[in-house]
Amino acid sequence: MVRVVIVGGGIAGLAAARALGAASYGDRSLELNVTLREASDRLGGHLSTSAFAGRPAVDESADAFLARVPHATALAGVVGVDELVSPTGQHAAVWHGRLHDIPDGTVLGVPGKVAPLLRSSLLSWRAKARALTEPLRRRVDAGDSIGALVRGRFGAEVHDRLVDSLVGSIYAADTDRFSLAMVPQLEALARTNRSLLVGARAATGRRASGPLFLAPAGGMADLAEATAAAATALGVDVRPGAPVHELAIDANGWRVDGDVVDALILACPAAPARRLLGAVAPLADLLAGAEAADVAIVTIAVAAEAWPERLRGRSGYLVPKSVQRAVTAVSFASQKWEHLADGRSEVLRISIGRDGVPLGNRTDDALLQAAVTEVSAHIGVDLAPVHVRISRWPRSFPQYRPGHRRWLEGLDRAVSPGLTLAGASYHGIGVPACIESGERAAAATLDRLRALRQ
Ligand SMILES: Cc1cc2nc3c(=O)[nH]c(=O)nc-3n(C[C@H](O)[C@H](O)[C@H](O)COP(=O)(O)OP(=O)(O)OC[C@H]3O[C@@H](n4cnc5c(N)ncnc54)[C@H](O)[C@@H]3O)c2cc1C
Repeated sequence: MVRVVIVGGGIAGLAAARALGAASYGDRSLELNVTLREASDRLGGHLSTSAFAGRPAVDESADAFLARVPHATALAGVVGVDELVSPTGQHAAVWHGRLHDIPDGTVLGVPGKVAPLLRSSLLSWRAKARALTEPLRRRVDAGDSIGALVRGRFGAEVHDRLVDSLVGSIYAADTDRFSLAMVPQLEALARTNRSLLVGARAATGRRASGPLFLAPAGGMADLAEATAAAATALGVDVRPGAPVHELAIDANGWRVDGDVVDALILACPAAPARRLLGAVAPLADLLAGAEAADVAIVTIAVAAEAWPERLRGRSGYLVPKSVQRAVTAVSFASQKWEHLADGRSEVLRISIGRDGVPLGNRTDDALLQAAVTEVSAHIGVDLAPVHVRISRWPRSFPQYRPGHRRWLEGLDRAVSPGLTLAGASYHGIGVPACIESGERAAAATLDRLRALRQ
């Protein structure tokens, strides 16, 4: 038997396990023996769902996946997660003194339509006038920084209140220190158009119909659990509570805690991967350069009768850095998702933490107090939570610094045969990108094993 070990039972590792299981099930001559080892007692990594405020399933971290790239939707279909729901389509806002609608026709905050931009209450007239000169401006090389590009084209207000708010909240990032090349929609706009506004208008015109986001009705953990069940049914040995302690390389290949294996997929974040590879230079040294941001989600429920009518029709809001204290974004979860509305309480998921704002020294009480005080002030309601849950996600958002692609190329050169890296630290943070990286790692592993046999 050929032995393959996958380290990490997040969605990337689970997707790799299912793909390897399916390949070996379809081709018995491969004689694969695949083991997935997950350190914690729970599978799913950063996908986690639990009961909250009378609802059976409210996500503690990711609450949806992008539907217009295939990987997550396809995996859900294959592993039998058939009941997918989409957000209600209510509007998101940006808080700046009060809640302002995000103007229509933007691509990750990049304005694509003039009339909604002019009508928007979010931007000053001076900022609107500056933004409208964008198509006339010369193309300037902004390097790989989103912040430099957007400020140079549209001015500081559009950057702070729109693009940095949106992109910053998706990646828990400071867009001045985040790689443009790693945000595909923005990279495509910058690469293919002299004017970002013209490019954004064309991109919004091309938007396919159908929901932008989907989620399993039972929460994102359902996708991880169903993938684990599918991998197990295909013969993979999926072991939660089984941390890997040490990796080593010798003439016979990789050793996992002393046992020789034929191939290894490291599907844990870069920091634990580096620890495991401590003696394997230069790979471990390169991984040491990876950075990640802390995030916490404070979920609260408030009595429905205390929720003002004027906030109906909104899915939540973002807080630009220029006016940020602790809270970066708020999802009105029971308005965003129909299946979470029960008429008795409203559920809010409040995000705290981002690049440059570590949370390790803040107690749960401090997080809760910041969340309730700030959101109460933002929306003009004295929030009195009747249920509270705090979910901490230390070092959960990899920070792709400008030049990230060069770092990836360095990793490719440093990786020894038989080892493949997968997961959010490398090619994409979103759930579909993590699934794709796991499936690619499985395909690369199979290619190598087949080549070795010939
Ligand atoms: C708060 C939050 C909100 C998010 N929102 C969204 C969203 O709405 N949509 C979206 O698409 N994405 C979202 N994301 C991002 C997405 O959830 C993650 O990027 C993705 O789940 C990461 O998957 P992964 O498999 O790469 O890594 P992880 O989920 O980090 O899994 C890695 C696993 O490796 C294990 N491990 C580590 N060391 C060892 C060891 N030595 N031995 C064995 N196992 C080990 C860990 O315990 C962990 O389970 C969000 C993330 C967070 C934290």
